Amino acid sequence: MQKKRKLVLIGNGMAGVRTVEEILARGGADQFEITIFGDEPYGNYNRILLSEVLNGSQDPSEIFLNPLAWYRENGVQLHAGVRARAIHRHSRQVTGDHGVVAPYDNLIIATGSSPYIPPIQGVRLEGGREKPGVFVFRSLDDCHKIAQYARGKRSAAVIGGGLLGLEAARGLQNFGLDVHVVHISGHLMGQQLDATAGGILRTTLEQLGVTVHLNKSTKEVLGDDRVTGLRFADDETLACDLVVISAGIRPNVEIALRAGLTVERGIVVDNHMRSPDDPRVYAVGECAQHRGQVYGLVAPLWEQGKVLADHITKRNEKASYAGSKVSTKLKVMGIQLASMGITEPADDRDEIVQFLEPKKGTYKKLIIRDGRLLGGILLGDVSKAAYLMQAFDKSTPLPEERLSLLFDIGAPSPQATIEEMPQGMQVCNCNGVTKEGLVACVRSGKRTLRTVMDATRAGMGCGACKQLVSEVVAWACGGAAEQDPAASYYVPGVPLSKPELVQAIRERRLRSVSAVFRELAGGNEDPGSKPGLASLLRTLWHHEYDDERDARFINDRVHANIQKDGTFSVIPQIAGGITSAAQLRRIADVVDKYRVPLVKLTGGQRIDLLGVKKEDLPAVWRDLEMPSGFAYGKSYRTCKSCVGSDFCRYGLGDSIALAVKIEDRFQGMDTPAKLKLATAGCPRNCSEAMVKDVGAVAVEGGKWEIYVGGAAGAHVRKGDVLCTVDAHEDVLRLMGRFIQYYRENARYLERTYGFVERVGIQKIRAVVVDDSEGIAARLDEEMRKTVEAYRDPWREAYAPATPNQFRSVLPIVQ
Ligand SMILES: Cc1cc2nc3c(=O)[nH]c(=O)nc-3n(C[C@H](O)[C@H](O)[C@H](O)COP(=O)(O)OP(=O)(O)OC[C@H]3O[C@@H](n4cnc5c(N)ncnc54)[C@H](O)[C@@H]3O)c2cc1C
Ligand code: SF4
Repeated sequence: MQKKRKLVLIGNGMAGVRTVEEILARGGADQFEITIFGDEPYGNYNRILLSEVLNGSQDPSEIFLNPLAWYRENGVQLHAGVRARAIHRHSRQVTGDHGVVAPYDNLIIATGSSPYIPPIQGVRLEGGREKPGVFVFRSLDDCHKIAQYARGKRSAAVIGGGLLGLEAARGLQNFGLDVHVVHISGHLMGQQLDATAGGILRTTLEQLGVTVHLNKSTKEVLGDDRVTGLRFADDETLACDLVVISAGIRPNVEIALRAGLTVERGIVVDNHMRSPDDPRVYAVGECAQHRGQVYGLVAPLWEQGKVLADHITKRNEKASYAGSKVSTKLKVMGIQLASMGITEPADDRDEIVQFLEPKKGTYKKLIIRDGRLLGGILLGDVSKAAYLMQAFDKSTPLPEERLSLLFDIGAPSPQATIEEMPQGMQVCNCNGVTKEGLVACVRSGKRTLRTVMDATRAGMGCGACKQLVSEVVAWACGGAAEQDPAASYYVPGVPLSKPELVQAIRERRLRSVSAVFRELAGGNEDPGSKPGLASLLRTLWHHEYDDERDARFINDRVHANIQKDGTFSVIPQIAGGITSAAQLRRIADVVDKYRVPLVKLTGGQRIDLLGVKKEDLPAVWRDLEMPSGFAYGKSYRTCKSCVGSDFCRYGLGDSIALAVKIEDRFQGMDTPAKLKLATAGCPRNCSEAMVKDVGAVAVEGGKWEIYVGGAAGAHVRKGDVLCTVDAHEDVLRLMGRFIQYYRENARYLERTYGFVERVGIQKIRAVVVDDSEGIAARLDEEMRKTVEAYRDPWREAYAPATPNQFRSVLPIVQ
């Protein structure tokens, strides 16, 4: 057997590791012993998703592309957290921190870039130490540092209104900060947008709560021992508590420079991504310079990685990189954007086709020369992006009917467009997945969208391409992808739909979460499935349920809502929004005694004590002498009420008394998702009962209309009328029956608006009101048992459920 060559990679980032994957895919494991130096202490992760981590929508663990196990499984030695310090070309060795030495036959440099820090006064403290409050945004560690510092601060400034600056701004909003973007030129994202698009983007950002300062050159970061503000060249100032500098990137080239390799802006490479100075050494990614060009987006890096892999494995020694035409689809602060080529005409012959609808934030502009696309911007509506990016990439002649380039009027249907897409066209830029790759995956037997996404990672970057991925998968499956069976499971870890699961639990009398895993999931305990199972078991078994505390979310373990700084919010029950001087006095005393930093009236007509320490919770509850308001669980929350007929001159029914009865009956009840209720004394609907999960509205003749499936959060929906009844007791009975039906049939975390739309109001009316399935009496009985089983969880103030129940151990960012 031929001796394996030693291959060393410096830089455990997106381009380098992707190149190693390409090498392995070409049988590289038989040719090379691979060693990687990575100065970050982790496996390779998707840098594009850092803003999702910063804004809290993704956990750091979710963005890893190659977890540490991947390296072991592929026989790759990773020196994680070890910086390569020098390349010794004569002895063919790389030396790094902690005395690590790695000999090589071939070397790949993929060191990426570092944020550029412009020469601004006051960025550092005297003596050169880092000034607290000044950050860059490039790595997971940067995210952690920003997250730690931002807690409790009021405002942040981002210097730089390019793609990365806006991504940072988006992340910072998560901390409740006033976010300012300071940009040196006259419009945002100058590399991808023209002035019109930049103006639209600015308006959209300001609507999202970000303040944009244009034409501002930052002269100084203010503050003697930490950041207090910025001073600009025009001597204006901006107060802020922290600043993120995002003023461009610079390729990391020092190690190559010291090794005597040719370096200009980046490490110079030929068409095989190889150094002209040393045939054993390659460079790839943001640190590489090819034909004078350095790239800062991922799509070109994937192309480079393939060429390098073909060449180094000798799979195709003629493989040649010809440079990339940069076109990309991005999501900037949730706004869809596609951009390609130039943004302004460069020649008298250039023709501009454009459409502008500022009110909707839509802008489309194409620059065409000699019937071919030279550049384009699509902002807000990117439905034509796939077609246009293909035309741009391949320089294909465009149709004479220019309108069809911007809109689907007489243009090919999406199906025809996908058929016409070249096999090699990238569908997912972030993960470099082509149409060909998706089709091959479908042909290999993966026929659901989820399995194809998991196998190829398509659609798992910024997410902008998900629609196109699903269209390509559907097309490759011959019209429609197969339904993912897991989509119908109640929880991912138990392969049963909710009706099947309920039946199995009842038949086998499974009373604990661990028993369900043991009997129905082959003993595999899926942590993500535990809270959903616990909720279902409580619904089915009431007080006979075997409560295993590790199956609960932190909120359910301590009966309070965890806040982003690790403290808790305490909301006592205030039924119907009616309180008393005695209650208010006790609340005030608690606020003083436990130094509660914020007291806030909630939308559900209650009082929220924010910032309570975990260890203080039992004492706070005891001093309040009020029951829990259940503002933390997947459960009945509260019933809001207007003043109703007792005081309001329009009132047709006693909405307060009804709200109090509702609270008394349904308090604390587990439901598949949170359940918000309201009562209104007349159809003027002051308490918004028509847009609650369940609402009751008094109408003429002393009757009450019951509404179900309303929502007024991120999703807005007016509820459907379930029925009209005569008295409070009827409202309680019918509401209870609907809630029980919802508890038994909804998927975990499915709000009533989704449930009502999925099942259909006709069917729900038939079952709940007309008893079409003969289950009404059983539903009423189950509800009665649940009401009887109610116990105020704040009684655990007197008898904790576990010795460590209220011990503080929780870090926020892990
Ligand atoms: C917040 C953010 C959002 C982004 N959004 C997008 C987007 O929407 N679309 C897009 O196309 N691109 C986006 N990018 C850019 C994209 O992430 C980069 O183009 C890509 O990561 C570059 O890959 P790379 O391997 O060249 O560099 P990197 O991913 O930076 O990897 C280089 C690695 O090498 C390590 N390293 C450096 N020197 C040494 C040494 N001497 N020894 C050991 N290790 C070393 C670095 O620490 C790093 O881990 C974004 C980037 C950021 C930061
Ligand atoms: S909903 Fe009707 S009864 Fe209630 S406060 Fe408004 S107007 Fe008055």
